[in-house]
Amino acid sequence: MSQSPSHSGKIASIPSPWPDAETAAQGLVEIGLWVSERGWVPATAGNLSMRTASGAIAITRSGVDKGELVPADILLVDLDNPTTPGTSAETDLHLAAYRALPAVGAVLHTHSPTATLLSRRFAAAGKVTFQGYELQKGIAGVTTHEGALDLPIYANSQDIPALAVHVTETGGYQAAAHGFLLAGHGLYTWGKSLAEARRHLVALEFLMDCVLEEERR
Ligand SMILES: [Zn+2]
Repeated sequence: MSQSPSHSGKIASIPSPWPDAETAAQGLVEIGLWVSERGWVPATAGNLSMRTASGAIAITRSGVDKGELVPADILLVDLDNPTTPGTSAETDLHLAAYRALPAVGAVLHTHSPTATLLSRRFAAAGKVTFQGYELQKGIAGVTTHEGALDLPIYANSQDIPALAVHVTETGGYQAAAHGFLLAGHGLYTWGKSLAEARRHLVALEFLMDCVLEEERR
């Protein structure tokens, strides 16, 4: 006998995949402290964002130390009409990710020393390739260390709206690595949830650390 999901009682109890604005703000405050403690958002660098239940994007205010965030530092931006005052210029690179990837719930942008150095080292190649590392499997969809996992590298720009269009048009948001580098600047990565985005950030930072160390030898 076939079972209709509507009779199971479980489907209706599944919460919205996106948190409300208050929960998102709390999550971003916590992840801000977490990335700050690792030295991945020096000074007031970096931007952290989440998609909320209303469809609006919760994102960190410009110019705030990510280790000292309070919920009031998290602003809501309408994806279709992004005119919220106080947001960073880099908000466009976050919004482009949410537009390109409907399943994505969180985007993390950091400026670690490793991301900065490695993106400069491989800028001319336009990518850094990870191969043979078990931790490649920390990235969603990667099931073996044997494949080559490319992390794209884009030239940095102060014209972020144009850069966001360029990344979108060149498939940067579809990268299997679930991230890309801006040369001499930092890393963008994302995930279905804040937890998945954080896992991608940790895995990519680890893989970049390994390659940078190998380059030094
Ligand atoms: Zn940045």
